[in-house]
Amino acid sequence: MRERKRIAIIGGGPAGLVAADALAPHHEVHVYEQGRSVGRKFLVAGQGGFNLTNSADGPALAAMYSPAGFLDEALGAFGSNAFREWLSELGIETYVGTSGRVFPTKGTKPVEVLNAMRARLLERGVHFHLEHTFVGFDEHTNAIIEHDGQRSSLTADFTIFSLGGASWSVTGSTGKWSEHFAQLGIEVTPFLSSNCGVEVEWPGSFARDHAGKPLKNIAVSAGERSVIGEATITQHGLEGNAIYPVVPALRDAIANGTGALLYLDLKPNNTTDQLLQKIAGKEPKNYAAALNLDRATMALLKAFTTKERFHSPFAFVQDVKGLQLTVNALRPIEEAISTVGGIPTTELAPDFSLKRYPRLFTVGEMVDWDAPTGGFLLQGCYSMGWYAAHAILER
Ligand SMILES: Cc1cc2nc3c(=O)[nH]c(=O)nc-3n(C[C@H](O)[C@H](O)[C@H](O)COP(=O)(O)OP(=O)(O)OC[C@H]3O[C@@H](n4cnc5c(N)ncnc54)[C@H](O)[C@@H]3O)c2cc1C
Repeated sequence: MRERKRIAIIGGGPAGLVAADALAPHHEVHVYEQGRSVGRKFLVAGQGGFNLTNSADGPALAAMYSPAGFLDEALGAFGSNAFREWLSELGIETYVGTSGRVFPTKGTKPVEVLNAMRARLLERGVHFHLEHTFVGFDEHTNAIIEHDGQRSSLTADFTIFSLGGASWSVTGSTGKWSEHFAQLGIEVTPFLSSNCGVEVEWPGSFARDHAGKPLKNIAVSAGERSVIGEATITQHGLEGNAIYPVVPALRDAIANGTGALLYLDLKPNNTTDQLLQKIAGKEPKNYAAALNLDRATMALLKAFTTKERFHSPFAFVQDVKGLQLTVNALRPIEEAISTVGGIPTTELAPDFSLKRYPRLFTVGEMVDWDAPTGGFLLQGCYSMGWYAAHAILER
């Protein structure tokens, strides 16, 4: 029989909760969370399109993550199908929506998904310690926890840290834990926005007139990356599922000072020739109707093209197929859907324990990996939590 060990899991987000579930049948598991409740960012994720995971699995799932290869084993061991089965065991059924995104069955609220997870952990005997904050390490590399103004060291056989990234600090993901790992000699990579909006300087009254409007079914390209999806015009620029995947390329270009250029194809399903045929012999004032372009799209074209180009059918179609926008900056970390930065993957053994401190594991968004939206972020967190837990079960 396995010797019963004491496991501390610090950070009550999805990565930590999945780890707790896997360990609880075999060991004494304690979850420490600084907030008054667990899973606050999970609930924020639920406010928009709640992509619990993505139906991609196997190599197609693994291909969505960088650095390449880092999460392959974990995603292979507990991928999106395994996660959906796990949810089903908890009584939460899911369905596959557009682009493979996986949602809870209609009518199931995000808080019900979280409650089902919490109920399962309680049933398995997990001890929750809310308003308990990790504030550093003692000389034996035990985590120090502060509660009610008192500090004490945790004695645990293994500690899994699942402290999250550094966006939406209201949910508890503040990244303040970085300094404590630096104390252990772990060089924590600075956090940067990922899956975030981009800043474009809109001319005149464009933002006032069009912020909030969607640009539907467009193709967005930056660097080597090209994506079909939707972008929303914001006060500051653009955001949305067609923008987030090109953020890494823009981030590199901004950092290198090489000019962060974004190209919009506003009619990705038509070739240049087809568009030229549609507007042949027509006045520019009839182009919108001929090409079925809405007011916001036409305003965007007018804002970023000259009068001469607008009046030349070929130049106009060129702009429809590749409108160039300069991105000045990414939106701030605080409002990003996810962050990169945190514990460098090079500090971790394949089971996500710290190479220098094999009793300590780090999982979820606090580790420096990246993935697009669409359920891949949460799936990366569940897979890491599950994999680290099973590594502990093997030890
Ligand atoms: C607006 C928004 C929408 C999103 N939508 C989706 C989506 O649809 N699909 C998707 O896949 N992903 C989505 N995400 C991303 C996803 O929510 C995160 O990637 C995921 O929650 C990260 O999980 P985690 O367990 O690593 O950390 P978190 O969920 O951030 O949890 C970390 C926990 O650690 C606690 N903590 C931090 N520091 C301490 C400390 N010192 N002591 C004790 N506890 C501490 C925090 O309070 C928090 O509860 C969205 C994110 C946002 C902001």
